Amino acid sequence: MSSLLVDNIGELVTNGAGEGPLGIRRDAAVLVEEGRVVWVGPSAYAPPADRRLDAGGAAVLPGFVDSHAHLVFAGDRAAEFAARMAGEPYTGGGIRTTVGATRAATDDELRATVRRLRGEALRQGTTTMEIKSGYGLTVADEARSLRIAAESSTETTFLGAHVVPAEYADRPDDYVGLVCGPMLAAAAPYAKWVDVFCERGAFDVDHARAILACGQAAGLGVRIHANQLGPGGGVQLGVELDAASVDHCTHLSDADVDALAGTAHSDGSGTRTVATLLPGAEFSTRSPYPDARRLLDAGVTVALATDCNPGSSYTSSMAFCVALAVREMRMTPAEAVWAATAGGARALRRDDIGVLTPGARADLVVLDAPSYLHLAYRPGVPLIRQVMRNGVTP
Ligand SMILES: [Zn+2]
Repeated sequence: MSSLLVDNIGELVTNGAGEGPLGIRRDAAVLVEEGRVVWVGPSAYAPPADRRLDAGGAAVLPGFVDSHAHLVFAGDRAAEFAARMAGEPYTGGGIRTTVGATRAATDDELRATVRRLRGEALRQGTTTMEIKSGYGLTVADEARSLRIAAESSTETTFLGAHVVPAEYADRPDDYVGLVCGPMLAAAAPYAKWVDVFCERGAFDVDHARAILACGQAAGLGVRIHANQLGPGGGVQLGVELDAASVDHCTHLSDADVDALAGTAHSDGSGTRTVATLLPGAEFSTRSPYPDARRLLDAGVTVALATDCNPGSSYTSSMAFCVALAVREMRMTPAEAVWAATAGGARALRRDDIGVLTPGARADLVVLDAPSYLHLAYRPGVPLIRQVMRNGVTP
């Protein structure tokens, strides 16, 4: 059994026991065996190990957990982005453009895109990345999207209910029947989660409830795209169905915030349903940001994710999302870093990632900086010096 000691860590973010909400330890070391953290403590008292990685006084954090990404697609929508920046509004209608390109692509083309984006994110410190389907929207194309996604992540999500495809435009009830029937049956073997885009122009609350309930009955966990473009019943539907996460949360009523706060665990460890905020989408659609402060003040657990997709948020950078959350959403740097690591883990109902405590997976990043503060303080700068996943450098 080979052990690795990461030592001489100037500032270690554990998200466990330690100083402040990030559980910070100074002059720390982490011992890794078999891909797991087995010991955390002062560098001066570190046990011997077979190998050593000297962090050189830099900051070390848990790897980012990006709990919301759409990576299985073909084509890009740079021209649509440019048009939007010139004043055209975002309606979600461009999703159908990507559906056409995705259906026309070969498996190898889709696989190459997923691997490229997964690799790009990993180099930027993302050690866990959820991947959704949702640009196939036929039984065969959704199944192959998830099969390909599952090659790169265990956190895969069936999003056959992303939009109603053009061929079903006049009969959305029939499309919901397809999603709940043969499409779910073909997708479920490769999926851990089911998701719906519950929004005007996509799926209403009744359709979303039907689809999520079918997914739940097939053994999938529930997540939902809700309240992105306007107010609606999506967040409260997510709470009703015990969703792990309600994502976007840009337009919330007091009742929505109360419903989320009502899922609080009795031990004070936050809410069972997480609000996942996706500031890359507001950035890329020039839209008002969600009010993170309001959710945090109500006791709601908040995660940050990229929403990486070719239309409304083509970034794979969690550090960029941290910087946006701090600058635009009134989160403190500590709250944003927690949301991008432990918060993402909560949004996936995982307790083995997003933390650097004994028993956790040895997923970590070494920054080219003395403190996690630099992630927001130095936006756009590549600060990830080294990434480790399962105790090895990928
Ligand atoms: Zn999304």
